[in-house]
Amino acid sequence: MTNLAANLLRTVSRFPDRPALRLGDQVMSYADLDDASARVVTYLRSCGVGPGDRVGLMLPNVPQFAVAYYGILRAGAVVVPMNPLLKGREVDFYLDDSQAAGMLVWHTAVGDGARRDDPVHLVVEPSGFAEALAAYEPTPGLVDRDGSDIAVILYTSGTTGQPKGAELTHDNLRRNAEVSASTLVHLTHEDVVFGALPLFHSFGQTVALNTAVLSGACLTLLPRFDPEQALDILTAHNVTMFAGVPTMYGALLNTVGTGEVDLSALRVCVSGGAALPVELLHRFERRFGTMILEGYGLSETSPVASFNHPDRQRKPGTIGTPIDGVEMRVVDANGDDVPDGEVGEIAIRGHNVMKGYWRRPDATAEAIVDGWFRTGDLGRRDADGYYTIVDRTKDMVIRGGYNVYPREVEEVLYEHPAVAEAAVLGMPHRTLGEEVVAVVALRPGASATPDELREHVKSQIAAYKYPRHVWIIDALPKGATGKILKRAIAVPPQQV
Ligand code: AMP
Repeated sequence: MTNLAANLLRTVSRFPDRPALRLGDQVMSYADLDDASARVVTYLRSCGVGPGDRVGLMLPNVPQFAVAYYGILRAGAVVVPMNPLLKGREVDFYLDDSQAAGMLVWHTAVGDGARRDDPVHLVVEPSGFAEALAAYEPTPGLVDRDGSDIAVILYTSGTTGQPKGAELTHDNLRRNAEVSASTLVHLTHEDVVFGALPLFHSFGQTVALNTAVLSGACLTLLPRFDPEQALDILTAHNVTMFAGVPTMYGALLNTVGTGEVDLSALRVCVSGGAALPVELLHRFERRFGTMILEGYGLSETSPVASFNHPDRQRKPGTIGTPIDGVEMRVVDANGDDVPDGEVGEIAIRGHNVMKGYWRRPDATAEAIVDGWFRTGDLGRRDADGYYTIVDRTKDMVIRGGYNVYPREVEEVLYEHPAVAEAAVLGMPHRTLGEEVVAVVALRPGASATPDELREHVKSQIAAYKYPRHVWIIDALPKGATGKILKRAIAVPPQQV
């Protein structure tokens, strides 16, 4: 059975009574998840949804997300996850573009009459969902799908322009979950996985939800990341695996300060989605006594492509080596390999690469060339085969003809003890083309002046790279996963 949801049925037969999902004191067993998702299948059928039809899913990190997600998959339909913070016109775009039959939507996200006329329109209430589903008898089993059939359409802005739907197949997602669970974090049914990453995003979906369901682990959910609540859950629920973006690790460190905290159950942390500053990795590991393994991937690669494997030598600052069944190359503009140590674009081939962009053959042809997915990320490979991301193609700053990779400058800023978060950007400049500027948030209680930070970087790296202007603000803008959103940073004109 190649339907991704077959993983759920297998786990249900092995561990029916084990906890599948937890939110606060509310616990849902695998048998409950099986029953509720089987009722979703009946509901969808009653709305005329059949195999291959698209269904929107607009829920925060609550147990009902998993119920609806696996229900849609069991019906053989295609999940179109959406951020519950989207507004009416954005929702319309996703539903229209994916030609969805409608959506299952969280009660606070319904908006003004949002598309009640669609064939599928189920408003999910925190406590009323089970009652709503009680009207539908469970449909056991699942609709079998081919491995190359689409399971999920994940919207992503990719490297340019309007969001595009990455078509992730049952094989893409199933194999990414299998490889992640077995070779990267070694999950078993005794693990407790922390689900702080949004489940509508590829990282949370594969590395938290699908790996937990595959292994029979318990996924403990936090609808909105808050470092204090996260620390409470990590300790009270005996979390054993935490997957997060670098800003979450920084926030946990800042929040815990010098206080007592017992994270002895936590055996492994995974970081991805953005570069993990080496200094932050070391600080976190020293403070909490647990290891962070950094990986790399994109929505289009289901998402995991490379990882600092636990059973190989770890190289902090790198994204490790490609996962089993996946190949990576560093190529120039013509698609030819560049020598080890030189910077080029990372290209990926393997079971994790999406089928294409939904109804966008031109964008697909541009992104997947001769079977290799062009990531738009710049990186290099060392002689041992480890890859390092130097930046996204479009984030690179060209100052007076010299390439400056913001990531390198950010690493140096993070080494300053007062710095909590840093983003380095290029601003238009009359004679140089672009000038390097830095936007920084300080750690609570710490102080530093822009001049001091500028001098700190200046003393460490080549003169053309250091930020001529440093701007200190309270907090950097972040996207849904908690990644720093460079494009949302508005530097006042007098700063450059
Ligand atoms: P998304 O499609 O939203 O998952 O974003 C994928 C992008 O996140 C990639 O193209 C990279 O630019 C970035 N990214 C993911 N993991 C890492 C990492 N470990 N280091 C640097 N950038 C990363």
